[in-house]
Amino acid sequence: MIISKDTVVTLHYKVLDTQGKLLEASPEPMAYLHGGYGNTLPKIEAALEGREPGYQVRLNLQPEDAFGLRDESLVRTIPRSEFPPGVKVGGQLQGRSDDGHEQSFRVVKIKGPVVHLDGNHPHAGKALCFALQVVDVQPASAEEVAHGHAHGAHGHHH
Ligand code: ZN
Repeated sequence: MIISKDTVVTLHYKVLDTQGKLLEASPEPMAYLHGGYGNTLPKIEAALEGREPGYQVRLNLQPEDAFGLRDESLVRTIPRSEFPPGVKVGGQLQGRSDDGHEQSFRVVKIKGPVVHLDGNHPHAGKALCFALQVVDVQPASAEEVAHGHAHGAHGHHH
């Protein structure tokens, strides 16, 4: 089956930096609903459109086409006294950005009485190489199309 709108694509992926250092690899295949549902990067969907299982590609993407540029207004500090207990470095906190949107912040470090937070995606501002290998392509169910994401073993769990 060919990758087109409303197919569920199962793939292996690796994310590398421009020096070829491995940043992230899928421990098991990932499945996503193809067709502009925002489940993966638009450049990845464009590269996979019309392809079949077995297809492999390496995509070099600029930050704008990957996880975006860094936004330094999302880097902030809060007093440790305002910090909910049990959250550790590497954990996430929910907050609001300056324009009032809900935003999750990564805890970068805790130094004395101050907690350093960063709301940027960990890969924001980086040019990245995505190594993709298509494992399987199936038609999406009506329910998957209605939900806008893939279900099943490697998809979304409710
Ligand atoms: Zn669902």
